[in-house]
Amino acid sequence: MNFRVPHPFLPKRVRGTAHIVVSVFDVIERPMHRPKHLSSPFFHAHTRSIAGKRLVFPLVLSCPFFRRQTEEPSRVPARILNGNAIRDQIYGELSAEIAALASAGVKPGLAAVLVGDNPASKLYVNSKIAACEKLGLASFMLTPPATISTDELLAVIDGLNRRDDVDGILVQMPLPPQVDSKKILDAVAPEKDVDGFHPINVGKLVAGRPSLVACTPAGVMEILKRSGIPTDGANAVVIGRSDIVGKPQALLLLHANATVTICHSRTKNLAAEVRRADIVVAAIGRAALVTSDFIKPGAAVIDVGQNVVTDADEAHKIFADFPDKLESFRKKGSVLVGDVHPSVVNVAGAFTPVPGGVGPLTIAMLMSNTVRAARMRRGNLVPAPASATAAAKS
Ligand code: NAP
Repeated sequence: MNFRVPHPFLPKRVRGTAHIVVSVFDVIERPMHRPKHLSSPFFHAHTRSIAGKRLVFPLVLSCPFFRRQTEEPSRVPARILNGNAIRDQIYGELSAEIAALASAGVKPGLAAVLVGDNPASKLYVNSKIAACEKLGLASFMLTPPATISTDELLAVIDGLNRRDDVDGILVQMPLPPQVDSKKILDAVAPEKDVDGFHPINVGKLVAGRPSLVACTPAGVMEILKRSGIPTDGANAVVIGRSDIVGKPQALLLLHANATVTICHSRTKNLAAEVRRADIVVAAIGRAALVTSDFIKPGAAVIDVGQNVVTDADEAHKIFADFPDKLESFRKKGSVLVGDVHPSVVNVAGAFTPVPGGVGPLTIAMLMSNTVRAARMRRGNLVPAPASATAAAKS
């Protein structure tokens, strides 16, 4: 005596398989949502006496086809994508390229303009200068006062544009409020625009002719490529549409043949959009906003966010299951948190940590862009070694 069981009677994991024939006694007597019952051996049958007769009731749900769909998937934590290791790999390749340039008498140089004395900006610029020194690039630090006017800063940029020993110019943001930031960024010669912010470089990126590409999104692409995460045909969701991360990221993924969705603060049902993604890039600036329920199991999750959390309640909420992080918070009074909740590691297939994920790649790609700019300005007369990074290849 078999009958058809409608969806609501079936455990969640077999819903969607429409109607399935099962024994009536299984439906009546066995508790619902019991995976053990559903994963019994190949052909499961049980007997029962009714009116003195022994009857056999087959249980079709127990066949291997259904077992595959009904067993709990093993929850293997995500592969951690180590940004420091990928950065070191890129540095190794860049060193070879820098050596080749040096033997041709070229030493690429990066000029950093740090206006005022914002401590965070100072820290960023210092780490960029330190990377130049590590790789053997020339570096120049200019530190105009916070009171500088737009015209005065334009004159500084003009001077750097003219210098032959400067291949790359970076203007550390934010600039003081009296300075017109757009005017300053537009004044950087496109061929020295190692941040990839100039409209000409953005236009080239749109047209699929990238020359100098924004460092953070370029770094994300290196993580994906070097970690063997396929973009071709993948559904990619970029959360954030800023000029420096979200937009160029979406374009790079598009050029890498992903099907790209860009989400932002006005996106309706963000979680549902993100759940369709094979690749998620979160560049929002909101601590731990992307939670496990946003993530399709097995997706690659790239966390660009860098948020400093100083509130104890918030830190405890985010890191309830991460005692090491809480301990570090207790010691320092602050903790660096990405835009992705750390528990996503239990759902994603691959995951970039914060810190140690995207961050190291941003500086690596700045170095790569500086080397590339040096070669481009000299008409690519010194060919890049075969191992040079994709972004540094012409
Ligand atoms: P941004 O200019 O502030 O842009 C944030 C984007 O997120 C905006 O497009 C905004 O949408 C969107 N957004 C804000 N709240 C949202 C919400 N609740 N739901 C969906 N979208 C939301 O920031 P950014 O410069 O792109 O930086 C983003 C994050 O990346 C920050 O944490 C930053 O520190 C970090 N970052 C890290 C690196 C690195 O090297 N690792 C480099 C750069 C940036 P609207 O456009 O609608 O406002």
